[in-house]
Amino acid sequence: RDRMFDVTITPLEDSRGAILAFNDVTALEEAGEMRSEFVANVSHELRTPLTAISGFIETLRGPAREDAAARDHFLEIMESEARRMHRLVDDLLSLAKVEDTERMRPTEKQDIADLVRHAADNLSGLAAERDVSLTLEGCDAPALAPADPDQITQVFTNLIENAIKYGGKDGKVTVTLTRVERDPRLRGPGLIIAVSDTGEGIDERHLGRLTERFYRVDDHRSRGMGGTGLGLAIVKHILNRHRGRLRIESTPGQGSRFSVALPTG
Ligand code: ADP
Repeated sequence: RDRMFDVTITPLEDSRGAILAFNDVTALEEAGEMRSEFVANVSHELRTPLTAISGFIETLRGPAREDAAARDHFLEIMESEARRMHRLVDDLLSLAKVEDTERMRPTEKQDIADLVRHAADNLSGLAAERDVSLTLEGCDAPALAPADPDQITQVFTNLIENAIKYGGKDGKVTVTLTRVERDPRLRGPGLIIAVSDTGEGIDERHLGRLTERFYRVDDHRSRGMGGTGLGLAIVKHILNRHRGRLRIESTPGQGSRFSVALPTG
């Protein structure tokens, strides 16, 4: 893109010339544009469920007033739209909080294996509902790394939940924890925690953009599953704070693998 400059002109006192100062404001302009785009996206995401809820209130006041079955049906939809708004607001708050703390490195060591087990336990109901088998490997012995326990639990909750949601019915989700002495991504010792699924996979052209806010491969599918489009953006920010890395690999038709590298030192 073209660079943008703020120009100030200061005439010389002897009026024989002037000084022109060019200040490169491209980055500032870009940050401003990104912020406006984000606000526009959030407004759009909130307006959709709000419009639905307002519409159903009108219907309940009017045509559906005396029809008990219709009333129950509309109330159910309103409830699910309200839940969607709730999730969105929760995710926005998480994102803001993570961005706020991004410069503060966690210092206290936590048992990452325990946090992974915790995240998986909380999702065992969803896995059972969708006939997905959820297996943990290497999570029996403690694996210590400096971490914010709530945030790291959220990372694995988001990744495992995605693997279950997009992994296809009757799929297999495997979470594998390995300890490494050296990893090129970490420049030192660390933990690699990989979440693999046997789902439809992701086309290569999307891989680089998945951690962008509100980026979805299939908009309709994500919304149908109750997704906010913010899960992987939150994961990325949390890992930045931990000096961790996320690698996404996928073979369309076979499945995906989201692997997290966390430094232990
Ligand atoms: P969402 O709330 O839509 O799930 P995320 O930020 O968690 O938002 O994920 C962004 C998009 O990445 C999803 O909409 C989906 O298209 C894709 N995605 C994430 N995880 C997987 C996966 N395991 N398999 C296939 N696609 C996935």
